Amino acid sequence: MGILLSTMWERWFGGAGREFKLVMVGLDNAGKTTLLYRLALGEAVVATPTVGSNVERLQHAGVTLEVWDLGGQQGLRAAWATYYRGADAVVLVVDSADRARVAAVKNELGALLSHADLSGVPLLVFANKQDARGACPAAELTSLLALHAVRGRDWHIQPCVAVTGGGLAEGMDWISSRVRQGRGETAAGAGGGGAAGAGAVAS
Ligand code: GDP
Repeated sequence: MGILLSTMWERWFGGAGREFKLVMVGLDNAGKTTLLYRLALGEAVVATPTVGSNVERLQHAGVTLEVWDLGGQQGLRAAWATYYRGADAVVLVVDSADRARVAAVKNELGALLSHADLSGVPLLVFANKQDARGACPAAELTSLLALHAVRGRDWHIQPCVAVTGGGLAEGMDWISSRVRQGRGETAAGAGGGGAAGAGAVAS
């Protein structure tokens, strides 16, 4: 992806000295590259679906962002621990219009959440492509992905349209407040999540 991260990251995560690690995952074609460009540059880019490349590592303003394509990665799972270790949050990007692969997303999410290195870390789901015909609303995706059954971590599902940027800031606000909370910093609007987990569906 090779992008420059903008000062928006500084707004969300603070300046140098703070280190946060976000792991962004999703099937190929979910919109991860588009979303990153939109966040970083504030503009839409013509992205071609990421194929082949498994992980991209970006760093800016103390934030490390590792971006994964989960499609076809089964053979590499043994190596994932190397990348997940130390993650402060997981961001899952879903193509809400790709109903045929929701089950695959759910499987990958299950594998991810059961990974020891991601135990307890907050989960943000971007329900992307809300503009596309037949897109699953966030509430329906919540049910299809069984998010209410997630235990032991805070989660949040945010509908968004990566090509226009709609919903991205709201999602990033949530994740930045949660990672700060995880480091014992206070953040306005941050709520507590108990061992049972706590989730929210934005509309
Ligand atoms: P990645 O493989 O997850 O990195 O996906 P890309 O960012 O490459 O996007 C895959 C395709 O989906 C591209 O053609 C994007 O233009 C398109 N796309 C991404 N986000 C959206 C969105 O919010 N709405 C629509 N309609 N298309 C999107």
